[in-house]
Amino acid sequence: MEIPMKKDTCPKCFCRVTARQEALQCDTCGLWLHRTCGSDISQASYREITWQIKFGIPFEWVCRSCMESVDAPMTESTRIDDADVTATGGAK
Ligand SMILES: [Zn+2]
Ligand SMILES: [Zn+2]
Repeated sequence: MEIPMKKDTCPKCFCRVTARQEALQCDTCGLWLHRTCGSDISQASYREITWQIKFGIPFEWVCRSCMESVDAPMTESTRIDDADVTATGGAK
């Protein structure tokens, strides 16, 4: 069996990621993952990220499999996320 792994197909649910859905693109492998498919990004954080991008501030997000293979150092954007997660009492 062969699963077509297109870049706009979420690796978790194998559904296509459309522009209307909340999704994040991995900075390392370029795959799109739905926010709700284990991105560890709360909805509040996601909204902040989309605003950030609208204002031309680049946001780097790396999917879990890339994060595990590359021991990525903490970036400035990660610190912003941490503050937001605390405020919403959300995910780890
Ligand atoms: Zn998904
Ligand atoms: Zn990745």
